[in-house]
Amino acid sequence: LPRVRVDLPDASYAVEIGPRALAKLGPAARRAAPSRRVLLVSDANVYALYGARAVRHLRRSGLAVGVVGLPPGERTKRLATMAALYEAAAESGLDRGGAIVALGGGVVGDLAGFLAATYMRGVPVVQVPTTLLAQVDSSVGGKTGVDLDQGKNLVGAFHQPSAVLADTSTLATLPRREVACGAAELVKTAVLGDAKLFAAIEADVGKLLAAEPRTSARLVAHAVAIKARIVTADEREAGVRAHLNLGHTFGHAIESALGYRRLLHGEAVAIGMVLAGRLALRLGLFSERAAGRVEALLGRLGLPTRLPRGLRSDRIVARMVHDKKARAGRLRFVLPVRLGRVRVVERVSPRALRAVLRAAR
Ligand code: ADP
Ligand code: ZN
Repeated sequence: LPRVRVDLPDASYAVEIGPRALAKLGPAARRAAPSRRVLLVSDANVYALYGARAVRHLRRSGLAVGVVGLPPGERTKRLATMAALYEAAAESGLDRGGAIVALGGGVVGDLAGFLAATYMRGVPVVQVPTTLLAQVDSSVGGKTGVDLDQGKNLVGAFHQPSAVLADTSTLATLPRREVACGAAELVKTAVLGDAKLFAAIEADVGKLLAAEPRTSARLVAHAVAIKARIVTADEREAGVRAHLNLGHTFGHAIESALGYRRLLHGEAVAIGMVLAGRLALRLGLFSERAAGRVEALLGRLGLPTRLPRGLRSDRIVARMVHDKKARAGRLRFVLPVRLGRVRVVERVSPRALRAVLRAAR
């Protein structure tokens, strides 16, 4: 089983990646829960597929298991759900020596992680990501939280997991569109961190989209190693961790301008990466050939590479400016300088921005 260690000053944990990672859940949760009580948080889709197996592994390790099943989807990632989770935790008798197990995609991971960060001022969480996006990106690094009507991820906490088990055999049941979204974050990690990973994705598009467990495990492990390196250097996003936002300044603005409909997060990020590449090209930072490779790879993964019809460029620029006003900051872009390397660029003229957006439809 590929394994990546994340070593931080106050937390050190292993990310186990591979087709049989779920089998390690019992011992991992047992280590996290000295009082032998755990609360398994999942969503209805994932619980129906993998819940029984997870519960069996936990019980076999002598743990008392409470279960909460949530409605699937981003709409569940809000404060009202947290209230229900706190009550379920208390109801199930979860004490300070207990632990949370998050079985699901990014939504479950963010909610269960925030529950663990705050219940009794903090209990351990074992993350068991079941989407490619969560395995590649959101389950590692300790970001947890919920959305408000005013914006996504506005409430949350950093809370590192005590273990991450990324079982790539669970990807077999993931809808193709969700696989592609995870692949977008995988490409992002390659573009910002390692040209070799980029070439490896290019070589294995078919197997990746088919969620072939060993190929997925190899690519996920490579991406997690890059993410671990970045998070270790900058746990709280004071500097280099911002590189992980490649494609996200554009991506978030597109999602927001569309009212979070039509496109999934990974799809908006794919378009965002194309735009970042073209902006970098225009600023003379990135080569035409490399920008073309990024677009071609995203296209082969079935991801969108142009702006959706009817979405006006000035609406996207307005969303970006609004977002920055809210934070009293300048527009900052993470831009590729070559495959495997990015940098943060601050002074981008609105003209250059509009030209890039106009050309991307
Ligand atoms: P993300 O991980 O992209 O943030 P979600 O947590 O919302 O997204 O998961 C996306 C969708 O995929 C949800 O409807 C969820 O129930 C479903 N899902 C998650 N993991 C699996 C899986 N392994 N097999 C099938 N469906 C899954
Ligand atoms: Zn993302």
